[in-house]
Amino acid sequence: MTPPRIAVIGGGISGLVAAYRLMKQGRAVTLLEGSAQLGGLGTFFEHDGHTFEKFYHCMLPSDGPLLALLDELGLSHDIYWKPTTFAYAEGEKIFPLNRAVDLLKFGPLSFWDRLRVGFTGLYGRMVKSTGLDEITTAEWLEKLSGARAFKKFWQPMLEAKFGDAWSGVPALWFWTRFNREKGDSKGECKGYVKGGYKRIIQALEAALRDGGAVIRMNEPVQKIELAEDGTPVVETSRFTERFSQVVVTSPWPTFAQAVGDRLKTEAGNISWDIDFQGVINAVFLLKRPLTSHYWLATPEEGYPFDGIVETSTLTNAEDRGQAGRTVVYLTKYLHRRDARYAARDEDIRENWFASLKRLFPALGEEHVEASYIFRAPFVEPIYTKGFLNRRAPEVLIPGRIFLSTTVQVYPTVTSWNGSVGQVEKTIQALNDSPSVAAPSVSNAGKPSAKLIQAAAAAMV
Ligand SMILES: Cc1cc2nc3c(=O)[nH]c(=O)nc-3n(C[C@H](O)[C@H](O)[C@H](O)COP(=O)(O)OP(=O)(O)OC[C@H]3O[C@@H](n4cnc5c(N)ncnc54)[C@H](O)[C@@H]3O)c2cc1C
Repeated sequence: MTPPRIAVIGGGISGLVAAYRLMKQGRAVTLLEGSAQLGGLGTFFEHDGHTFEKFYHCMLPSDGPLLALLDELGLSHDIYWKPTTFAYAEGEKIFPLNRAVDLLKFGPLSFWDRLRVGFTGLYGRMVKSTGLDEITTAEWLEKLSGARAFKKFWQPMLEAKFGDAWSGVPALWFWTRFNREKGDSKGECKGYVKGGYKRIIQALEAALRDGGAVIRMNEPVQKIELAEDGTPVVETSRFTERFSQVVVTSPWPTFAQAVGDRLKTEAGNISWDIDFQGVINAVFLLKRPLTSHYWLATPEEGYPFDGIVETSTLTNAEDRGQAGRTVVYLTKYLHRRDARYAARDEDIRENWFASLKRLFPALGEEHVEASYIFRAPFVEPIYTKGFLNRRAPEVLIPGRIFLSTTVQVYPTVTSWNGSVGQVEKTIQALNDSPSVAAPSVSNAGKPSAKLIQAAAAAMV
């Protein structure tokens, strides 16, 4: 007999929201999280009795599904918004890039190239996304901005995000990021919640526990298979258990590794080999501010990191513990097999801080209160042309196994908002799917074919 319990794999925002939605429908839910912390990439660390995100996080006014969820959780009144700015470092010079006039004064490009980059921004705002999954960002931007401006301005930012794989990324990836970040006529604005992302994680966890959901921590799923009668079987190092249904939210590469032979056959034609880019964030808690910019892009090769994210330009003093405490994230996207990903924490701290001092020569060790290094191996799929067709569907096995991972989120921006929106789609697909699936050899379904500062900020 098939047990009625449903398993949700992964306790990041996707898994937490999937479990929450199912629990609210009256389903018996077991959430399996591989690590000791809930919240996935949005999780936190403690310093001096305060919590900070391990990886910088903020929300945008356009984050509809996330903001609706926060409203439902009673957190809306605790969200605050501030205007934020973007700048670009070339050598040791910092160029703000927030208004048309900033672009006109942007020294790294010739006057003509500035105009072309400006045109690219305007065009990117007006054009529809049709066909953009079939051409690369490089082809699209080179055509719009010209080869010289592309090489100088856009390419380093693409490389910063995707490393060697930059040339294959579809223009649709760029277009969605550009159009998410563009802000309105009042300019760019970002949001944060009092108490940090920890509040959201804890609100979801409390709702789950109150609703009777089971949460198992430190339980990495090693195998997902179908029994002979089609029931999903989930294996960890501690147990092997049958579930009536499974919702997978763990990063695609870890899921692909765990898929059993029978499940693989039943799932049909799925691109299991989608690879992911990882990231290193070095968090510096400083006793003095660096800039007034939320984001300072440093895409030049001379910097070991791609950007400096000064989140204290957004967060309130109470959320940092002290008014004078500046919180700075140095961020570098890297593949997990890149030798730099495995560099020793001490070396990263020393080399990156030395590079930071190139831009801010007055900065000294006496200004550092503390520093922390965090790595994540699976952040964003390495997109290729035609990714819409490579992306797996929400329904992997009808009635049985459902997917809500960053791969399904494309072309929406990988973000908490993108994940929450994706969970809603996946749960809808689950509710629409027959409750018991006859194991079939067919494919479970096809994916439903679905101002410069902002564009630059979106790339890094
Ligand atoms: C540097 C950085 C900055 C970002 N900035 C922002 C931002 O400003 N705003 C924003 O909205 N988003 C931002 N994001 C993106 C956002 O964090 C992600 O899109 C989102 O957290 C993805 O959520 P998820 O639950 O789908 O996946 P994840 O957060 O990756 O969660 C997956 C969970 O699955 C668990 N897991 C893995 N393998 C297994 C297994 N075998 N068994 C069980 N569990 C497993 C993991 O431990 C993890 O808890 C940022 C990300 C990074 C890295």
